[in-house]
Amino acid sequence: MDMRSISPPGRARPHVFPKTQRDPEPFTYFTERNFENITQVNELPPELRFDMQVVSSVLPFKVNSYVVNQLIDWSDIPDDPIFQLTFPQKGMLTEDHFNRMAALLKNDAPRKDIKEEANRIRLELNPHPAGQTTLNVPTLDGEVLPGLQHKYRETVLFFPAAGQTCHSYCTFCFRWAQFVGMSDLRFAAKEASQLKEYIRRHPEVTNVLFTGGDPMVMKTHKLEQYVEPLLDPALEHLQTIRFGTKSMAYWPQRFVNDPDADDLLRMFERIIASGRSVAVMAHYNHHRELETSLAREAVRRIRDTGAVIRSQSPVLAHINDSAGVWELMWREQVRLGIIPYYMFVERDTGAEHYFKIPLVKATKIFREAFRHVNGLARTVRGPSMSATPGKVEVTGMSEVNGEKVLALRFLQGRNPDWVGRPFFAKYDEEASWLHHLKPAFGQEKFFFEDELARMTDEKMKEVDAA
Ligand SMILES: *Cc1c(COP(=O)(O)O)cnc(C)c1O
Repeated sequence: MDMRSISPPGRARPHVFPKTQRDPEPFTYFTERNFENITQVNELPPELRFDMQVVSSVLPFKVNSYVVNQLIDWSDIPDDPIFQLTFPQKGMLTEDHFNRMAALLKNDAPRKDIKEEANRIRLELNPHPAGQTTLNVPTLDGEVLPGLQHKYRETVLFFPAAGQTCHSYCTFCFRWAQFVGMSDLRFAAKEASQLKEYIRRHPEVTNVLFTGGDPMVMKTHKLEQYVEPLLDPALEHLQTIRFGTKSMAYWPQRFVNDPDADDLLRMFERIIASGRSVAVMAHYNHHRELETSLAREAVRRIRDTGAVIRSQSPVLAHINDSAGVWELMWREQVRLGIIPYYMFVERDTGAEHYFKIPLVKATKIFREAFRHVNGLARTVRGPSMSATPGKVEVTGMSEVNGEKVLALRFLQGRNPDWVGRPFFAKYDEEASWLHHLKPAFGQEKFFFEDELARMTDEKMKEVDAA
């Protein structure tokens, strides 16, 4: 397709995005099948390599050459945060799960037995948390739209079928199940037309979030097939197109010297020329990911288009569970022109027990880092749980009439009326998720519980009928 033919009228010349001359590097990656070919892995003790094999038989594993060669500090194994972020670790399985899988591998069990055991273990790891598969699925003319989620009034999530993988996998990923072939857990959309039609009929929708996987694994021409229809003036209520992506950390070449990097930036410009904004929702888990020259160049080139970059990450044991890491990360982001957006709490799925941090500790880390940065970094909110009723922030700890409490509030709610209303839970040092918390002040239920139950019932009926 001739790019210029789909540019909006009045735009004379595509922007030129200057870049440092660098040879394009082909994208190469490793998985559980060939990771022993990584030179640096080959030099690790055999026990460690066996542990990796066991864990990667159950949990997804994929890492690319840029992460291996430019992000991981191989003199600091196993503690290096990026190694923990991308490579399987023994503790990511419970002892029982680990031993069951290790026994099969030691005895050279048939592939079929290994697969079956892996699937049994996976089903014990809460593969689809927070009612994602049914509760958030929208319908069009009584038909379920599998590639869309619509949980919060103004925002539609879109999962393009070709964007359901990533440049590397995060070991903590809450969407891990879709990467190990539990295909009924994938929420992929094949059609762009349904997205457009859904948004056209929902004037309350102001923004669409392309997500995955990682939509940036898609070639630009493929992404354009989904994006261009949304630039139609008939969708005037659509203000912003967002892209949720880890590529700025894992494969910044996507925006710098991949063959279609410039085309992607021009696509951002066309969105902006249509009177909308582009928000790149960048997943950065550690300041290290911002430190390479490629990573910085990616940020600069994206910002040159007029797109805004906002950052988000969960707080995770072994990776970023110290206030110092967050403080440095937010400082560096502000310096580069990235807007700190969310600190999340790790969801209750997959290797959760390995990464889990009690809410009280997460709140302390947040506050300690927040206190030490200037106001420009304090756009960040959290720690926030994406739970069934909504995004719930732990605002802080307090004492009211002698009772220790956690102050909470909805940042997003399945019912928008819930947003911003403070509520209180009993102080609990162990709790690591919303459903562990009990209401404070002797109340029986949190204010939203009855209504949530009603909404759940109604949604179940709607989806069953479709
Ligand atoms: C986080 C999230 C969004 C986006 O929420 P914002 O607060 O607008 O960033 C939208 N839909 C779902 C299901 C989400 O979990």
